[in-house]
Amino acid sequence: MATPNDEFSLYDLRVEVVTNRGRMLCHERIGDHFEVRGGRISFPAGQEFPLYALAALLPLLPAKQRDTHPNDWMTTDADIACPDVHCGAVFRISRTGRRTFHHGEESGEPLPDRP
Ligand SMILES: [Zn+2]
Repeated sequence: MATPNDEFSLYDLRVEVVTNRGRMLCHERIGDHFEVRGGRISFPAGQEFPLYALAALLPLLPAKQRDTHPNDWMTTDADIACPDVHCGAVFRISRTGRRTFHHGEESGEPLPDRP
């Protein structure tokens, strides 16, 4: 259950194919993308996305959703190469907005009592 002081925020993300440095062997297309909002991913209707690139991108997304130190490479670096060494696709993770959540609506664990 949401309470007034159990708020936290996460960045919304957009992950998009932005560059082709060679042959895109996974059949990526410039502009292919998906959006991340909280714990959910959405793809444009009918658009496909390469499985192995998605698998490589997934571990980075929760970190990109959260505040990071200005000097942290996780803050500054946004372009990710396709994990297929022979593929030229580059994906960009962009923070597109910020969304507020309530712990009580996102977790079954109670918050610890705070003084
Ligand atoms: Zn690829």
